[in-house]
Amino acid sequence: MRPSEARKKKFAVIGGARSGLAVAKLLRARGADVFLSEKAPAKQMSQTVDELERLKLSHEFGGNTLRVLEADIIVLSPGVPSDIPIIKEAKAKAVKVVSEIEVASWFCPAPIIAITGTNGKTTTTALIGRIFEDAKRTAMTAGNIGIAFSQIVDQLTQQSVAIVEVSSFQLDHIESFRPKVTVLLNITPDHLDRYQQSFELYIASKCRVFENQRASDYVIYNMNDDVASSNVEKFVDPRVKKLPFSKEKPVNEGAFVAANRLKTIVDGNESDVIATGDLSVRGQHNLYNAMAASLVAKVMDISTASLRSTLRNFKGVEHRLEFIRIVNGVTFVNDSKATNVESVWYALQSFDQPIVAILGGRDKGNDYSRLFGVVKEHVKHIVGIGESAENVVGVFTPIVGVTRATTMEEAVHAAAALASPGDVVLLSPACASFDWFENYEQRGRVFKQIVMNL
Ligand code: ADP
Repeated sequence: MRPSEARKKKFAVIGGARSGLAVAKLLRARGADVFLSEKAPAKQMSQTVDELERLKLSHEFGGNTLRVLEADIIVLSPGVPSDIPIIKEAKAKAVKVVSEIEVASWFCPAPIIAITGTNGKTTTTALIGRIFEDAKRTAMTAGNIGIAFSQIVDQLTQQSVAIVEVSSFQLDHIESFRPKVTVLLNITPDHLDRYQQSFELYIASKCRVFENQRASDYVIYNMNDDVASSNVEKFVDPRVKKLPFSKEKPVNEGAFVAANRLKTIVDGNESDVIATGDLSVRGQHNLYNAMAASLVAKVMDISTASLRSTLRNFKGVEHRLEFIRIVNGVTFVNDSKATNVESVWYALQSFDQPIVAILGGRDKGNDYSRLFGVVKEHVKHIVGIGESAENVVGVFTPIVGVTRATTMEEAVHAAAALASPGDVVLLSPACASFDWFENYEQRGRVFKQIVMNL
């Protein structure tokens, strides 16, 4: 939608957290009529209420009333499920429902690079952001990474670049959102609770990122991920330039590894980017992330020398295989963001040393059998934590030694006692954190603090 059209419309924004507030403010600043509706009571969100009052932006707290349905367009914050009653009613009445990134994209003068996938989005978005920063190019990162896309559009120009981490929830309600470059890192079952337990629906949602792309746009994707590559074939417009990356097969165009060097070929130009051993972050998954980011860099004309220097120095993102310290020869690593089985599989693959793994939390219906092989190969002991500790003990006992802990402190001490010099103690829970903690960040911080006190 053109900004001039949006100005004439009446909007209702559902959800008053970071993204909802940002999009309401953006729409209001651009002259539209905006109403914000939030389920939580006003007393729980006093700062937001104060801000809305100051801006004279109309609002309601403590539930979504029928006033929402007076809007021409409803904007759904990414944290709000699409099956809440008011949205069902809106759909029945054919009121248009869009997501926050859709709205932000109407006002974004810069080309958009969109990063999606089940795992690795934040890491890759941050890495791409760093590549642009080191190359002295004006770019901003936003989306799921912590700052809403709506919050940055005012600071962008045609000469800058918007690097946006997009989740499937945001993609569920796009219309014209069109990235110049999309990156699809991988697709494995996750969040199925929000997709009627259907992997197909989740895949279709992720692939909506491609739906408005046309000639002169690019899709970068993991060729070693069968689900990602077969769906790129299915969903991407044939005029879009496809750039696969693969750690195995050389590709005609895209990124690959040959003789332990990461190389890219884009528009017929080959670049010898870096020796894989010089990448500063470890693990096969980070090699994939580096290949994806290198392709973005090459599409956007960033020099190989600058790219190489970033890949040598990028230390990763907090709570993703984050090195903490070595105590009595044992390396402690915080991977609290590993909230699904797939990310734990990659974490366990990332170390040559024996691992004592701390695993468990709020289980979203994990199938741990995917981990059996890698546990046999890399893990010497598991410490089960959280609500699912008992399940973890039951599932892994036939394969490896398992201990149950009732607090994080107990878990760290048990793991430290079980590890020998040269081993790794890895917190990589495969589960959500909400049983014992507020979120995965707090879980990671508590873990790190205990490790620092050892
Ligand atoms: P997201 O933003 O998609 O949740 P993160 O970058 O926050 O992804 O990483 C989540 C978890 O997945 C971390 O444990 C991280 O080490 C792991 N991970 C990172 N990149 C990948 C990848 N390409 N494939 C699988 N797991 C990955």
